[in-house]
Amino acid sequence: MQNNNLNQPAKQDPFAWVKVFQAENGLEANIIKGLLKSKGIESQLQGELLQGALGEIPFEQTGVDILVYALKERQAQEILLNYRQLKQSAPDWVCPKCHELNGATFEICWSCGTVKNDESE
Ligand SMILES: [Zn+2]
Repeated sequence: MQNNNLNQPAKQDPFAWVKVFQAENGLEANIIKGLLKSKGIESQLQGELLQGALGEIPFEQTGVDILVYALKERQAQEILLNYRQLKQSAPDWVCPKCHELNGATFEICWSCGTVKNDESE
């Protein structure tokens, strides 16, 4: 015997995972995950290629969804709004030492640790 409560209004579970952002790739997804974590928000990454994968997310992963608890959705969106503004104002940069491309939100090269230098010659 089934008991489907179809007539009841959907009540949002505060611990349901909701999508708040779609990252361009695994690298950005991890930046955002770290950003949210620094504000005390747990997040979960979800992408098509992640299914069945254990542990590490490849940096070339594309279209990664960032999910947070419904409870934290509003707070996460404020953080992401700031992130997007920062991202628009600061372009990606290439490390002068190892020539790796770094995301705008990185202060140091993810590959070799060289500090970002905004000086122009
Ligand atoms: Zn570097």
